[in-house]
Amino acid sequence: MPIPDALAARRPALHAALGAWWAASARPLRFRTDPSPWGVLVAEVMAQQTRIDRVEAAWGAFLARFPSPAALADAQPAEVIRAWAGMGYNRRALQLQRAAAEIVARHGGVPPRSVAELQALPGIGPYTARAVAAIAWGLPVGPVDVNVARVVGRLVAAWGAPGDPGERPRPAPLQAWADALVDPAAPATWTHALMDLAATTCRARAPRCTGCPLRTFCAFPAAAAEAAATGAPAAAPVTPRPPAVPFPATNRWLRGRILDRLRALPDGEWTTIAAPLGVHDADAVGRAIAGLAREGLLEARPDGAVRLPSRT
Ligand code: SF4
Repeated sequence: MPIPDALAARRPALHAALGAWWAASARPLRFRTDPSPWGVLVAEVMAQQTRIDRVEAAWGAFLARFPSPAALADAQPAEVIRAWAGMGYNRRALQLQRAAAEIVARHGGVPPRSVAELQALPGIGPYTARAVAAIAWGLPVGPVDVNVARVVGRLVAAWGAPGDPGERPRPAPLQAWADALVDPAAPATWTHALMDLAATTCRARAPRCTGCPLRTFCAFPAAAAEAAATGAPAAAPVTPRPPAVPFPATNRWLRGRILDRLRALPDGEWTTIAAPLGVHDADAVGRAIAGLAREGLLEARPDGAVRLPSRT
């Protein structure tokens, strides 16, 4: 599905407006100072499921320890898991190491340029592949995560318009719109700017349309005004969320605490994890350990002792 002709015709002005806003309003993120394909790939994998302030805190140290795909591919898995401390979703650390090994084996030690080749790497999905292609290689492709999808969807008036049944656009048209909107002269700037606009201005629940550089290009403010006049909803209905489970009661918390215990040990040392851990009883701890072992995040002996994994 193409973007509307009226919006397509105004793309140069749209690019200029967002670029000028970003020049004055960019979030000062340290990981953006390294546009190398490896630096960008590491940052984007970290940012997949982790808050940006945590990525900021961890990215520099990780790059200093593993300055190239070869350095990461050669490391002991235990060392990689240690370096991932504080990031959560630790499987990503091992997937990134597998991706680094493929980059060394198949791409001469440098992350590939094409979206297809990037997406073929372990743990790299459509969003991360496009982000690396756009930011590091300057390819005119539009990475779409949930935040960019919101901005693009509102711009193209398919998300949140009055009378809209409330369904979000499907991934395929959203991707096509995002690719069509990219500034081909500055894909990296466009990508960063769109992400910053989503984080600071085009927010999910209360978009700040009044101060938005894209206001005159976007269907949403008009839609919102019309909705106010007619009483129709101005935004897609928000599906009520089920009550949140307290984080310490989750399996994710338990897995993180087990790995943190192992990270605190000297290299190669075995230990046993005593239950209960927080609110988790022995069965839950055992299941978590078994799951971590299946995923290669720890080694477990028949006597119940565990440690971070090694290759030797
Ligand atoms: Fe988002 Fe409002 Fe800007 Fe449109 S005008 S992009 S809805 S903040």
